[in-house]
Amino acid sequence: MLTKTISDEVQSFLADASNLQGGHAARVVFAESVEEVAEILREASVEGTPVTVSGAGTGVVGGRVPFGGIVLATDRLNRIKEIRRDVQGGRAVAEAGVTLSEFQRNVEAEGLLYPPDPTERSCYLGGSVATNASGARTFKYGPTRDYVNRLKIALATGDVLDISRGEIHADASGRLLIPLAGGRRIEARLPSYRMPQTRKHASGYFITRGMDAIDLFIGSEGTLGVITEVEARLLPRPENVLGGVAFFQTEENLLAFVREARARSLRTREGNSETSGIDARALEYFDEESLGFLRARYSQVPERATGGAIFFEQETQTATEDELMSAWLQLLERHKALMDDSWFAVEEKDRARLREFRHQLPVLVNEWLARHGQRKVSTDMAVPDEEFQAILRFYKESLRASNLRYVIFGHVGDNHVHVNIMPKDEDEAHAAREIYLSFVKRAIKSGGTISAEHGIGKLKRDYLRLLYTEDHLREMAALKQSFDPAGILGRGNIFSEEFLEKNSEHRIQESE
Ligand SMILES: Cc1cc2nc3c(=O)[nH]c(=O)nc-3n(C[C@H](O)[C@H](O)[C@H](O)COP(=O)(O)OP(=O)(O)OC[C@H]3O[C@@H](n4cnc5c(N)ncnc54)[C@H](O)[C@@H]3O)c2cc1C
Repeated sequence: MLTKTISDEVQSFLADASNLQGGHAARVVFAESVEEVAEILREASVEGTPVTVSGAGTGVVGGRVPFGGIVLATDRLNRIKEIRRDVQGGRAVAEAGVTLSEFQRNVEAEGLLYPPDPTERSCYLGGSVATNASGARTFKYGPTRDYVNRLKIALATGDVLDISRGEIHADASGRLLIPLAGGRRIEARLPSYRMPQTRKHASGYFITRGMDAIDLFIGSEGTLGVITEVEARLLPRPENVLGGVAFFQTEENLLAFVREARARSLRTREGNSETSGIDARALEYFDEESLGFLRARYSQVPERATGGAIFFEQETQTATEDELMSAWLQLLERHKALMDDSWFAVEEKDRARLREFRHQLPVLVNEWLARHGQRKVSTDMAVPDEEFQAILRFYKESLRASNLRYVIFGHVGDNHVHVNIMPKDEDEAHAAREIYLSFVKRAIKSGGTISAEHGIGKLKRDYLRLLYTEDHLREMAALKQSFDPAGILGRGNIFSEEFLEKNSEHRIQESE
C-alpha cells in the first residue's frame, strides 16, 4: 500500500473543484483492495484519526477536502471487473476509482448504456455514487441511485458490507438492522424528516419509509462508509440520438417550449401515442448571460437570442429519426425558436460538439473566477414544477438589482438550474452570499431542495439547517454513529462536527 507524506505530493488531495481553501492532512493512503481499506479504517477508528475519502476531486462542495487526519485515496481501486449483457440490458462490476468516462467507454463498447452523466466525466464511479450524481440525462433516466444494484462498502469499524438492492429494508418504525460477520449487526434509526418532493434531491441522507438499505449509502458523501465496488445496472444502448441547441428571442417562448416538451415527454413515457413520440432525454437551459459568456468562445451564438437557449436530446432509431426530428422542429417553430440560427445534430461528432458547448460554460466560469482569485457562489436548488417560473423570475430580478456578474444554466427539465454568481472582490462576494441565502430561503418556501445533485459537503451544511431542524441533524448524526462509532469518516460533511460530539452512543450489537 502506497503512502504519501511529502507535502508537494499530497497537495492535490487537499482540494477539490469547490476551491475551498485550508485543507490539510498528515498523509494520503492509496488502498488497493477492500481488505486494505477496511484495515486502514479499523486502525483509524482505534486511534480516533479522521479519514476523508477521496475520489477524483471533481466535487464542488468541498466533500473531499480534509481538515486534519488522513486522506484515503481510491485511485488504485481502478479495475473494471465485469460487463455482462442480459435481457434487460446488462450489468457491470467495477471498483470505486474507475473514472466515469472509462467506465462509460467500456460499457458503450459492449452496446450498453450507463445513464448517469454528470457533466464532468473525469469523476470516479465511487465518487459519483457517494454524491448520487445527476446530469443532463437525469431528466429521462433519473439519478445515479437508480442504476446501483449492489455496493461493497468498508465501514469505519473495519467490517465489510456487500449489500444488494432488495436485500435489506427499514421496518415500519424506521429501524434498519444490518447483519455483519460473526453474528453481529448494526441497528440504525432513520431520521424522521420528509424529503422535499422535487424531481431531484441530494441534500443529506436519503430517507423514505421502508427504504432499501443500499439507498442510505448512495449520496452519503463519504460519511457512512467507503464504497470500494459498484455493480451497476445497464440499459441497451440507443441506436441513435438527435440533439440541438435552440435559441429564443423571449424567455416566455423558451419556457413555454420547455413546458410542452416536458409534458409530451412524460406522456410518451406513459405510452400516450398523441405526442408525436417527443421524449427528451435532456432539456438544458442557458440564460442570456450564459450565452454572453459563451460568445467569447463561440462567435456563432446569435446576438438576438435574448431569451436564452435550450439544449435538447432525444434517443432515436434509424427508422424513426426523420419523423422525430420533424416533430421537434414543429414544436420549436410553434414556440418561436430562432430556427435559422439554431443548431441541430444527428451525427455523433456533431452532437459531441453540442455537448462540448454545454460543458464549456462551467469551465469558462471557473477560469474567469480563477483569474479574479474568487470562488463562485453557486446554487443547486430544485423546486416542484409549478414553482419554477416564479423562482427563475425571482433569481433574475434579485441579480439584476445587485449588479453582480452571474450566469444561470442547467437542468430545466427537472426545474433545477444553477445560478453561478461571480464576485470580483470581497465586497461582491459578501453581497453574493446574501443573495444566495435569499435564494435558499425562497426555494425552501417553494417546497424545494437546497441541493439537487452536488450534495452538501462542507460548503452547504449551514444551509441544511434551514431545510431541516436541529433535531433532524442530530438524528442524521446518530445514524452516522451507528455505522461509524468513532466518528472518523467524512468529518464535517453534511453536518458540522458539533453534532457528532453531542451523540456518543453507538449501536453495533451482538446477535440476540
Ligand atoms: C465542471 C463540472 C461540472 C459538473 N457537473 C455536474 C453535474 O452535472 N451533475 C452532478 O451531479 N455533478 C456535477 N459535478 C460535480 C462532480 O462531478 C460530482 O460531485 C462527482 O460525482 C464527484 O466525484 P469524484 O470522484 O470527483 O468525488 P470527490 O470530489 O473526490 O468526492 C466527492 C464526495 O464523495 C466522497 N467520496 C468519494 N469517493 C468515495 C468513495 N469511494 N466512497 C465513499 N465516499 C466517497 C468524498 O469524500 C466527497 O465527500 C460537476 C463538477 C464540475 C467540476
